[in-house]
Amino acid sequence: MRAECREASTLLHPDPAHVLSFDREGRLYTFYDDGVLYKRALDSSLHWRRRENDGPRERGVLAEKEARAVYEKVQSFVNRGVEELEPECARRLAAEVLPWTPERIMAEKQRFDAVYRPIAILPPDQYFSIVVQATEGCTWNKCTFCSFYQGRPFHAKNADELRRHALAVREFLGRQLLLRKGVFLGDGNALALSRSRLLPIFEAVREVFPNRAIYSFVDLYSGERHDPADWNELRRLGLRRVYVGMETGLDELLAFLNKPGSAAELTEFVRELKAAAVSVGLIVMVGVGGREYAARHAAATIDALAQMPLDERDLVYLSPFIEHPASQYARDRLEAGLTPMSGEEVEAELQRLALQIRALGTRAARYDIREFIY
Ligand code: SF4
Repeated sequence: MRAECREASTLLHPDPAHVLSFDREGRLYTFYDDGVLYKRALDSSLHWRRRENDGPRERGVLAEKEARAVYEKVQSFVNRGVEELEPECARRLAAEVLPWTPERIMAEKQRFDAVYRPIAILPPDQYFSIVVQATEGCTWNKCTFCSFYQGRPFHAKNADELRRHALAVREFLGRQLLLRKGVFLGDGNALALSRSRLLPIFEAVREVFPNRAIYSFVDLYSGERHDPADWNELRRLGLRRVYVGMETGLDELLAFLNKPGSAAELTEFVRELKAAAVSVGLIVMVGVGGREYAARHAAATIDALAQMPLDERDLVYLSPFIEHPASQYARDRLEAGLTPMSGEEVEAELQRLALQIRALGTRAARYDIREFIY
């Protein structure tokens, strides 16, 4: 049994087939269990992932009973660690990790629910950020493929509510803050708020989480409501990158998805953000529109990206499209006679697009929404 007592985390290596990591509150963070990787979300749900031989990656979320069995296994490793490790690490394990019995760690769900409304999605490079929900839901909520905020009316917190929420987040995360970097302002499009509502929100975030870069989603039609001076001011207050659901550079397909905007408007918007030194993360859905749209979707997307002043600080996320059977998109697709692309076709298309995007001088990365965890 080996352990690493780091400043921001504690790592336990009982044997080559097992590795456990804990935050400085002592809560499980990840558990590698002989081929299966478990990650604990803040509500203590356990997300697992494994790949057997060269097969496809499998993933899922454990049911409560299964999660409990995993937490019991974790506890038995911790008990062993307390007995077998050298005194300094054994003391830390006993003081920080041992008190987190399966019951107590599972009760984190209630604490999470008291602090947060459900967090639907984050960009992958933001899974380690501190989420502060300035708004709840999405102002538009009508894109045919999107189920992230369905049934949730849009609500914006005022500065006092926001400050109370941010303080509750800080208390809940505790010393896990050592593992987290920036602040992500949720939900769907927090930057849709007017300048006069956003500025006190940014001030409150800076007060509770000083010296942290700020990130957020913004949709095109809300983003356009801010003028260049607003973006400069938000940049001065810590805004570093905004994430925009571009989906496609093909206007016809964007209209089919019932998403407002156009490639030309997005290009102009990105120019404005970049002029204010705010980076962008653009999310493109690979496979949306099926085989019939694939070639035009790819060509128009690359054309649009080529018009934007993107550099190595920006990111283009390529997200394999997941169709929800009950969505409006699924009904529209059937009516339009579009053929879904197979998983292999989507992956091949994703690789092709990634190469073309990198040739434009910016970064491209895969974004699998099924791997989202907070
Ligand atoms: S704007 Fe974004 S969050 Fe809102 S419905 Fe469309 S895809 Fe979903």
